[in-house]
Amino acid sequence: MAEHLTSPRVLRELLNRHKIRLHKKLGQNFLVDENILTKIVTVVDPGLEDGILEVGPGVGTLTLPLARRCRSLLAVEIDGRLIPVLRETLADRDNVTLVQGDILKTDITALCRQVFPDRPLKIAANLPYYLTTPFMFKVLESSLPLCSLTLLVQREAARRMVARPGSKDYGVLSLLTEYHCRASLEFSVPPTVFFPRPEVDSALVSLVPRESPAVSVPQRGLLFQLIRTSFQQRRKTLANSLGETLPGGKAKAREVIAAAGFPLLVRGEDLSLEQFAILTELIYNISGNGTSIRECGENR
Ligand code: SAM
Repeated sequence: MAEHLTSPRVLRELLNRHKIRLHKKLGQNFLVDENILTKIVTVVDPGLEDGILEVGPGVGTLTLPLARRCRSLLAVEIDGRLIPVLRETLADRDNVTLVQGDILKTDITALCRQVFPDRPLKIAANLPYYLTTPFMFKVLESSLPLCSLTLLVQREAARRMVARPGSKDYGVLSLLTEYHCRASLEFSVPPTVFFPRPEVDSALVSLVPRESPAVSVPQRGLLFQLIRTSFQQRRKTLANSLGETLPGGKAKAREVIAAAGFPLLVRGEDLSLEQFAILTELIYNISGNGTSIRECGENR
C-alpha cells in the first residue's frame, strides 16, 4: 500500500476509507509524484546513523522512504485524523515515532533530545505556506544540533530565503537564513505533483547550518530587532524607520547611519547582513549595553 501513496487513486481511497476531507488551511497538499519524491529523498540523503525530524508527515508519503534509510525518524503531525492513517501506512516501520501536535507549540528541542539522544538531526518537510517563516524562526533560533534542513516550500518563500540585498524578495527571512545557514534552491516543483493541486509553484530548498553565525554582533536580539524594524515598511528610508524606533529619534538614526558610512537615504532592503551587523554594533556602542529599539508589528 505505502508503495503507492503517490498514486492519486490510492491516496483518495485511503482518505475516503478514513473519512478524511483535507483542510486547505493546514496546507494539506500531498505529494503524488514518485519522481519528485525520489529527488527530495536524494537531497535529504538519509544515512543509516541519522535521526530525522519530519514536520507534517500527512499520510506518510515522504516518511516511509526516509524511515527506510535512516536510524530513527520523528514525525510531528497536527491533524489527529491522520495519525491512524500513518499507523497503517508505516505499520512495517519500528523506527518511527509519531507525535500529534502543532510543531509551533511543541518543545522540539526536548522532544528531539528524547528521541535522538546525542544525535545530530536532519529536518525534512513539505511545509504548509503559513508555517514556513514561524517554523524557520523557531528552529533556527533553537539549540537543536541540526546538520541539515530540506524544505519543500512555496516558491516565493524559497526565493525569499536565498534572496540578496536590493531584490524584491529580500527581507527578514533572507537575513535570518543567511545568518544561520548556507542555503541553496534545489529545484522548482509545479502544482501538478500535489493532490489536491495548490494554486502556486513550490521549490525545494536545502539549508546547512553554519558552524557559527555568518556575522558576529554584541547582541543577536538587537540585530534582529533592527532588521525587523528596517523591513517594517520597505520603501521607507532607514533613517525614517530607525528614527521612529531608536531612542534619540531621527537625529540619532542619522548619526548612526553616517557613522556606518552608509548614504543617508539608504533603505533597509539595500543593506547586507554584514552592514546590519555594523549598524548593530554602532547602536549598541552609542547607546550602551542592554540597548533595545521599539518594534512596530509583524512583517515578513
Ligand atoms: N509530508 C506530506 C507530503 O509531502 O505529502 C504532507 C505535506 S502537507 C503539504 C503538510 C502537512 O503538514 C499536512 O499533513 C498538515 O496536516 C501538516 N501540518 C500543518 N500545520 C502543521 C503544524 N503546525 N504542525 C505539524 N503539522 C502541520
